[in-house]
Amino acid sequence: MLDTHYHLDQLDDETLHRLMEEAAVIRNIIAPATGLHSLERLLKIKNQYNERVEVGAGIHPEREMNGEIREEKKKLIQWIKENPSKIRAIGEVGLPYYSLENKQPNAIPEIAWEILHDFLALASELKLPVILHAVHTMAQPCLEAVKQHNIEKAVFHWLKAPDEVVRQIMDSGYYISVTPEVVYRERDQHLVWLVPIEQLLLETDGPYPHQGIYEGKLTHPLWIRDSIQAIAGIHGKLEEEIEQVTTQNALRFFFG
Ligand SMILES: [Zn+2]
Repeated sequence: MLDTHYHLDQLDDETLHRLMEEAAVIRNIIAPATGLHSLERLLKIKNQYNERVEVGAGIHPEREMNGEIREEKKKLIQWIKENPSKIRAIGEVGLPYYSLENKQPNAIPEIAWEILHDFLALASELKLPVILHAVHTMAQPCLEAVKQHNIEKAVFHWLKAPDEVVRQIMDSGYYISVTPEVVYRERDQHLVWLVPIEQLLLETDGPYPHQGIYEGKLTHPLWIRDSIQAIAGIHGKLEEEIEQVTTQNALRFFFG
């Protein structure tokens, strides 16, 4: 089992240590950076936990796009070009949705497009997989950008999108990942039902909090087991098969 999306840098040292001990059965945790500082802390965490933690590098699209972000992007891209072997993916990158008032593609600031295109071009050049944040109305324009850059491997993380867009993502050979929301939320259960298990990755998006049976708890990589159980029910398959296939998917995606 892998947790393909946990922001480990957002935990304090003590909590991080406890969580890593408790989650010993999770083979790898992929930690996507949200920017330069986030990446610096994640690289230290990666050193501390060796192969158990792997890192992605990018600028999160929901961050405030102020004047300094262009400089940060430059530094980050420079660092990635010099150290491509220290990361397993480009990400988290994508398009803003939650931080936009008008949640339509025409409201995306130019700088957000620039950041996305620059990181996609880099991913294409370095042949790195991409972790995407692109939900609802932003999934389709992001898919177009990914295809335009001939990206081989991309995952639409914690996707929420119309069925038609989900099908286009599947037809393009890309992946989607689901969080433990699949345990208690119909929208995510419907999404999983639409998607062949060969194109499915599992994540928690920790420490972002979840609801339902998880309300008030620190998001834990072990919850991947609950997702496996829920997905097995939706697809009418054994849990062992879901675990095996999603593990192989993640290994192929990040380590293949
Ligand atoms: Zn994230």
